Amino acid sequence: MNYQKILEEIKEEVKPLFGKGKVADYIPALARVGSNHFAMSLQLFDGRVYGVGEVDCRFSVQSISKIFTYAMVLSAYGKELFKRMNHEPSGNPFNSLVQLEYENGIPRNPFINAGAIVVTDILESIYTGEAFSKILEFIKEVSDNSKIDYDKEVAISESRSGFRNIALINMMKSYKNISNDTKDVMGIYFKQCSISMSTKELSRAVLFLANHGVDPITKKRFLSESQAKRLNSLMLTCGHYDASGDFAFRVGLPGKSGVGGGIVALVPELMSVCVWSPELNSKGNSLVGTKALELFTTKTGLSIF
Ligand code: GLU
Repeated sequence: MNYQKILEEIKEEVKPLFGKGKVADYIPALARVGSNHFAMSLQLFDGRVYGVGEVDCRFSVQSISKIFTYAMVLSAYGKELFKRMNHEPSGNPFNSLVQLEYENGIPRNPFINAGAIVVTDILESIYTGEAFSKILEFIKEVSDNSKIDYDKEVAISESRSGFRNIALINMMKSYKNISNDTKDVMGIYFKQCSISMSTKELSRAVLFLANHGVDPITKKRFLSESQAKRLNSLMLTCGHYDASGDFAFRVGLPGKSGVGGGIVALVPELMSVCVWSPELNSKGNSLVGTKALELFTTKTGLSIF
């Protein structure tokens, strides 16, 4: 298959969609990102990479960080984890408070903000005072790249305007589903959202998930087969907030989006894909990115179904 040609076709075909979405503007540092960026990268198991657009341009990974933190707790925390959060799609926006209250402070899944905040709380319990450096270390390891870092300006901006996230953690604390100091946990959460990576780096970082938990290039195992299955199934059912069903319907791959406009997706046993385009649809997922991935599976026949 001529992947490079397919990517170039996709880049042309998504052009009419620019201007139809809206760049995340809940913090000034994200609102400033120009709207017309586009990049798409493929990373194959045999080491080949393909890309179009600004594949080396770093952007804010935002909620894509949730797959890495969840991978860390899955391998370190065991079954206790499943008492503190569920594994069902939320059918609600990523930062919704309503469902959390009537479900007694137990988040629906680890990929909505409430669930990801519980995951960060667990990491702080495991690595007291060092949780963020461990998160960064893990991402560097799965990326096989020691240069990954976070954007301090985005992190400060997040913490100054994260009122809804602070409400979520306080609600969960009142239900005793948060063990650590809420300010400490939020400091880590805001930093993990502010990690900056390019599509090339992100597609490399999630490759182990397409290969049952083992990086096919370095041969390092990061998750057991069963843990990788769990994480991938959550990406398929919960990776795009209340548009997860729509993403599965249109793209047919496990994936995870972030409000920075990035989306990663996996073609099991073959490759990982990452696309970035900052304009979001009404559900908070990259509008052009979703279309690009839909075109990718249509043109290649590589959906999991
Ligand atoms: N920093 C964002 C928030 O917590 C992450 C949400 C996202 O990327 O979907 O609101």
